[in-house]
Amino acid sequence: MDFSDSPHEAAFRAEVRGFLDRHAPRAMPDYFDDRIDVETFVAESVRWQKTLCAHGWAAISWPREVGGRGLGPLEQIIWNQELTRSGLGDSLFLVAIGLAGPTIIAHGDADQKRCYLDPMLRGEAMWCQLFSEPGAGSDLAALATRATREGDEWVVTGQKTWCSGGHHADMGMLLARTDATVPKHDGITYFLLDMRSPGVEVRPLRDMAGGTHFNQVFLNEVRVPDANRLGPVGGGWKVAMTTLMNERMAMGGFERLFSFDELIEHARENRQRLDPGTRDELARLYTWVRTLELLNARVVTKLGRGEMPIAESSVMKLSIARIATKVAELGMDLLGPDALKRRGPWQNRFLGAPAIHIAGGTDEIQKNVAAERVLGLPRDPQTDRDLPFDRIPRS
Ligand SMILES: Cc1cc2nc3c(=O)[nH]c(=O)nc-3n(C[C@H](O)[C@H](O)[C@H](O)COP(=O)(O)OP(=O)(O)OC[C@H]3O[C@@H](n4cnc5c(N)ncnc54)[C@H](O)[C@@H]3O)c2cc1C
Repeated sequence: MDFSDSPHEAAFRAEVRGFLDRHAPRAMPDYFDDRIDVETFVAESVRWQKTLCAHGWAAISWPREVGGRGLGPLEQIIWNQELTRSGLGDSLFLVAIGLAGPTIIAHGDADQKRCYLDPMLRGEAMWCQLFSEPGAGSDLAALATRATREGDEWVVTGQKTWCSGGHHADMGMLLARTDATVPKHDGITYFLLDMRSPGVEVRPLRDMAGGTHFNQVFLNEVRVPDANRLGPVGGGWKVAMTTLMNERMAMGGFERLFSFDELIEHARENRQRLDPGTRDELARLYTWVRTLELLNARVVTKLGRGEMPIAESSVMKLSIARIATKVAELGMDLLGPDALKRRGPWQNRFLGAPAIHIAGGTDEIQKNVAAERVLGLPRDPQTDRDLPFDRIPRS
């Protein structure tokens, strides 16, 4: 099998490199370094999004008729790889461009597309995802935030949690229960929430690295116009699946989560700490990384054929979390006592790695998918799937 770029892919990569070499900001601060000035980071992100928009690179996989570049998943992967190569990590517009936009394109009416897509492209609207709740994460369909219809409006009350970027967001993708008398997946509706609506309270959650990247969001009788409902009443689960599939695509790359090459460079710089045990670990890690690349090639091949690599991406997510953790641990080992004396990129990676095992679907959930779809084992038992939501025992 040949893993090098096809002539078309190589030409596209060269075009992307040319654009990034000319226009990418010289240095974008690491958002996960808790010493950065957040306001400067937000301003830089907006400036970069405006530059992307001005040159037609704001949303490369959106269709052309809504302002995208109309390109496919292969080009998206190359684009992500080249962004990482240029030192550009996750953008604060990732949720808007990667998740909210594609969901509105798939399920929105003409007014919703006109109203919401352009501000995302132009760097005028940041979005957040209001899905998880204290009692609904892996089992997202257990969500209890309720929306009750009153004329042309819905009144929403509940609590969301782990909402990344909620403190910067102008708009949120909100899931709420509109019918508790039907099975849990059937009574959910999807709304587009103006985060400045009265009754929305965003409270930061501090993570163990010291940063406040995600939030609790309290919704207290928030009024949402029916015009902001995305898809049919009770049809929110299907709309949410579009968001989650796009989240997998947007987050799927491993290049931005760890760099094995950087670890090897770090090992060369600290060769005095390369004992036989560490060499052994590095060699084992090398085989994991090469295996991951083969798996990635399989994902790319499937995407190129128009197939959805569901099982492969679950195994990839699992492997990425494991490798990112090991890379960070070895990076810290190589620093020796300095690892504890100051804060730097290896410390940030080390403190950020546990979140990779949880965000976007936990390790255990990915293992369930692999067990069912790769090994052909029976489905994870779900006793409450067909019960009306209001008859499911809840603590
Ligand atoms: C950095 C970060 C950013 C996030 N950003 C957002 C965001 O912007 N918006 C948002 O809505 N959410 C966000 N989340 C939430 C994320 O989607 C959830 O944390 C995740 O889905 C897990 O849900 P939970 O935390 O409720 O854990 P739970 O689902 O309660 O899981 C607890 C433990 O039980 C295990 N478990 C649960 N079910 C099973 C099962 N069936 N089989 C085996 N084991 C199981 C889990 O693997 C885990 O170990 C974010 C999370 C992180 C870490």
